Amino acid sequence: MRIALYPGSFDPITLGHLNIIRRAARIFDALHVCVMVNSAKQTMFTLDERADMIRRTVRRLENVVVETRDDMLLVKHAKDIGAGVIIKGLRAVSDFDWEFQMALANKIVEPDIETLFMTSSSKYTYLSSTVVKEMARYGVDLGDFVPREIIDDILARINK
Ligand code: ADP
Repeated sequence: MRIALYPGSFDPITLGHLNIIRRAARIFDALHVCVMVNSAKQTMFTLDERADMIRRTVRRLENVVVETRDDMLLVKHAKDIGAGVIIKGLRAVSDFDWEFQMALANKIVEPDIETLFMTSSSKYTYLSSTVVKEMARYGVDLGDFVPREIIDDILARINK
């Protein structure tokens, strides 16, 4: 069974993330989407809220599992769940430097685990969770940016 792990902050999940999830789920027997804590980022949603929003979005994708992690190095978690591959989405060269460093560092910690980069769909290269939050604050319709299932969650949080 080929298992892959797709990690991120997903604060919140965007159509760019969802595009990577759909494509990766077609390649692997099981895809674990793992919501992680990023100490460098102040988030709008809690870890569980972010996971819940992803679950609602992917509920028709039968081989996708959504989970949260706040206490473990990513590659250790990959090893724990039997994932041989970590999936990363690449939007532009600006993503590359950091992801390349992390992939090499992870390879030293766990040589058996591969990092696989998937290019963002050209439709979504501009899209990030930060862009979504910025648009939401100015009342822009979020339909082009995030899955329908979570639009109300974002509006409720912004209006609080
Ligand atoms: P961000 O906060 O920058 O949106 P995340 O930490 O939530 O990023 O991203 C998780 C993963 O999804 C990363 O591998 C990131 O490169 C990828 N990703 C983010 N946005 C997109 C997009 N629009 N298209 C493809 N991949 C993306």
